[in-house]
Amino acid sequence: MIPVSLVRAMLLGALLITVLVVIPGFTASAQVKPGPDPNQPIDEEYTKKIREYTTEPVFNSPLTDYLPASPNVPTPKAVLGDVAGAPGKLPYAEDVYRYMRMLERASPRVKVYSIGTTEEGREMIAVAVASERLLTKLDENRARLGQLADPRTIKLDDNQADRLVADSFPIYYITGAIHSPETGAPTALMELAYRLAVDESAYIRTIRDNLVTLITPVVEVDGRNRMVDVYNWHLAHPKDNWPSLIYWGHYVAHDNNRDAIGLSLKLTRNILKTYIDWKAQVLHDLHESVPYLYDNTIGDGPYNAWVDPILTDEWQMIGWNNVSELTKFGMPGVFAHGNFDTWSPGYLMFVAATHNGISRLYETFGNAGADTVERTLSPSEYQRTWYRQNPPLPKARWSQRNNNNYEQTGVLTALHYFANNSKLFLKNFYLKSKRSVLKPKNEGPAAYVLPANDPRSGNQADLLRTLQAQGVEINRASAPFTVTVKAGKAATPSPSPTPSPTPGASPSPSPKTAERQFPAGSYIVRMDQPYSRIADALLDYQYWAPNDPQQDIYDDTAWTMGELANVEVVRVTDPRVLAGSMERVTEDVRSPGAVNGSSAVYLINYNADNNLVTLRYRLKDLRIEAAEESFEAAGRKFNRGSFIISKADSAALRHVAGELGIQVYTVDRAPEIKSHAVKAPRIAIMHTWLSTQDEGWWRLAFDQLGVPYSYISTQDAAVDSDLRSKFDVIVFAPVGRDPKAIVLGLPMFGNALPWKTTSLTPNLGKIDSTEDMRPGLGWSGVMNLQKFVQAGGLFITTMDTAEFAVSLGFTSGVSIAKANRLRAIGNILRVKTVDAASPIAYGYDDALAMYCFNGPIFNLSHMAGGRGGRPEREQRATGRGTPDDPDIPQGRPPAEIPEPPKAEVWEAVPLTDEQRRNAVYVIPPAQRPRVVLRYADNKDLFVSGLLDGGDEIAQHAAVIDVPAGAGHVVLFSTNPFWRGQTKGSYSLVFNAIMNFDNLNAGRKLDEK
Ligand SMILES: [Zn+2]
Repeated sequence: MIPVSLVRAMLLGALLITVLVVIPGFTASAQVKPGPDPNQPIDEEYTKKIREYTTEPVFNSPLTDYLPASPNVPTPKAVLGDVAGAPGKLPYAEDVYRYMRMLERASPRVKVYSIGTTEEGREMIAVAVASERLLTKLDENRARLGQLADPRTIKLDDNQADRLVADSFPIYYITGAIHSPETGAPTALMELAYRLAVDESAYIRTIRDNLVTLITPVVEVDGRNRMVDVYNWHLAHPKDNWPSLIYWGHYVAHDNNRDAIGLSLKLTRNILKTYIDWKAQVLHDLHESVPYLYDNTIGDGPYNAWVDPILTDEWQMIGWNNVSELTKFGMPGVFAHGNFDTWSPGYLMFVAATHNGISRLYETFGNAGADTVERTLSPSEYQRTWYRQNPPLPKARWSQRNNNNYEQTGVLTALHYFANNSKLFLKNFYLKSKRSVLKPKNEGPAAYVLPANDPRSGNQADLLRTLQAQGVEINRASAPFTVTVKAGKAATPSPSPTPSPTPGASPSPSPKTAERQFPAGSYIVRMDQPYSRIADALLDYQYWAPNDPQQDIYDDTAWTMGELANVEVVRVTDPRVLAGSMERVTEDVRSPGAVNGSSAVYLINYNADNNLVTLRYRLKDLRIEAAEESFEAAGRKFNRGSFIISKADSAALRHVAGELGIQVYTVDRAPEIKSHAVKAPRIAIMHTWLSTQDEGWWRLAFDQLGVPYSYISTQDAAVDSDLRSKFDVIVFAPVGRDPKAIVLGLPMFGNALPWKTTSLTPNLGKIDSTEDMRPGLGWSGVMNLQKFVQAGGLFITTMDTAEFAVSLGFTSGVSIAKANRLRAIGNILRVKTVDAASPIAYGYDDALAMYCFNGPIFNLSHMAGGRGGRPEREQRATGRGTPDDPDIPQGRPPAEIPEPPKAEVWEAVPLTDEQRRNAVYVIPPAQRPRVVLRYADNKDLFVSGLLDGGDEIAQHAAVIDVPAGAGHVVLFSTNPFWRGQTKGSYSLVFNAIMNFDNLNAGRKLDEK
């Protein structure tokens, strides 16, 4: 059952290796036997402990069942007090660094580099290990790798590339502990560094003499230290349940490995920069959630559609070699194929895949701590399959040492294979870089263009800066230029949808082309550059077929960055786009800001650019009015919501406008137009103690944009009966749990689960703290929140927290329908503006693309408690006539049949006279839900990713403003804040916040 492509890949690998063995210098090492050098003494005591802590001999290998002794280089015991992987030993990041620096001092084969800090200011490091000879040549080697990485520097000359390859050695970058509960990698990497520096065996020397191993032992440093605290708490309370790791990094947990698209986290930026600066060939990330070693780089399809096929072959070559080597060592449970689809470029390791290197990822088996325990697997984990001929054991005592053995053995065999084939992989590195430069000539496109006249220049600049951080070169047109584009693009600000995924839908007409002129100043992302592949992957559209054999989808299916930023991005295949006159942008892209004119009144066009909320909070005391209608002034058109500032410190305004990139215009007199004050209200972001994963992306965006907030928990809301006196707005971001869990919290069995700073747990607390994580919002909290809304507060909810608000009676007239067929798996859908006069819609156009994950399907009703679904279209009864020509009772004149009330899918059905007779349940017009945005019609709904059964959610309300007492509840079916990728929808939330006490502006009430 091995796919044909795989067989070919393996054959190719075998052929290339055959070629290589004839090259002098690579013959000997290929057949080197693993194991200690007979002339080098063994560290007997350390070796004895390795064997003691390994629960079965089969869980070790000839590479790791001994440790060579060194007279002057300290072993990990110097810091740990025991061997790597010893029970009960989990070092803090600082201890790991201390050891790496001891190595650096003791061995000329080790160098430690500081590569940046985390959100909480902790250091990140990279440790280079290689022979003295290689380490002294790092700089000249880097210069050569730089030429291979950018073949334009050698005019794409293959002969020169061959000479560079012959002189160069590769960089193999290994990263550990990005996922904080996966605790084994730091000690495995400490010992690995020691082995690589000290071991004189032929096997290790082959590695050391032929490549540089670069190691970041702890990627998520903040989370590592919290995890060590939790583990130490567990050791101190051996009979108790321990608190789960509610916070990993400062903002997000597991999603820290989904940030390679948005680049919001410092750890992603630091690793990316290190990878690019070193011109590394591999990024190999260590995880621990599968028994015993799963190389999930090979994984399963669909593979990311933008990577070079040379890379996907390399995955197979290295991965299957790994399986083969460890299988020969007799280690059970090593496999390469499995349920990881390799589609999204959001994983940290994918930084290499999208930058002409090789991404790799291991899942080994960890115990989330350093206890040795009996582990029982599920049948799906221990059963034999075609790709797992030697599966893990159904039951085994498992230790952290076992895990460290697997991690090191896997990595060492990979390093050895890479060292033996270093020239092949360097040549591939060059070829992939060259093929990236040749993209316009081969598969295309030629470039992406971001027009100069985009209405959201701030969001546009932000998107371009993200590409720059990816190492992508940006150019700016110095003159207008005309190219052929797909027709229809010029007229609409957003690209029209790609073919409908709905089965049976008629294919869209063959694309026609049109000439389009772009103004001078337009940004051009050329595809004839070394890192074209990442730009192409991020800016293009995704299509995941509903009938794809992969039904176990691993992550988001779409990430189209222009759509999610609400910024126009035009894919251009016409090569003329590369010939126009343009200049390379050498600084970070910024939108230009200025105060134009010197009259008394300042005007700022409201375009839903995210820098406007920053301005609002930066100039907190400035009085700003929002126009409730569009108007013209200073020779320009201003949208609804535009800022009118009648009195300002002009120097301060000028400074902030310049810094934030905002255009301000001046007029003598304020336009005569209805307006209301735009406030800088007091915000609380409320979290649970169940999960802080998804709300972390909201906090991160608020922090990045300088929007201040208080950070409270549901436990705070439970005991505060006057939330309104402290806050104007409470934001309740998605939790990922049902309403019952939010109210009840964790079960109250057993002991309290503290999350606070103590001498035993110095890294817990801080972000927020509690004596006991178990209690939830409770019924008192529900009442306090309802009181907050009734007293004029704004409560913002999304997805499952919207479901919470609906099901607990915050929102009369809204109900949620059950989805039966809908599969909107982390995709991008089109939403349409229903009520452009609502302040929530200020600055937006007629349509917007939003991130959706099976969002709740809202229905509306004018009746409290009404389910709001449309009445089932009644089947006509048996009688005369045809289905649409109804029955006529005989022997009397036909009676006129009244028209049933009609409404659009996103609207409530108008009330009937029968319903109004005694109006106990009728919601008064001013208290009825107001639909701001709805999902597009089914034919226009799909933007990017996987959409199946879209008719279930098409046309339904997507964003609703529900008045409740003196306040409002806003419900989102889509997620406006997701992984730093959805910057085009942030302003929907900021609009609600800034206009929290004027959300009824522009509202038209029903007559009855
Ligand atoms: Zn993981």
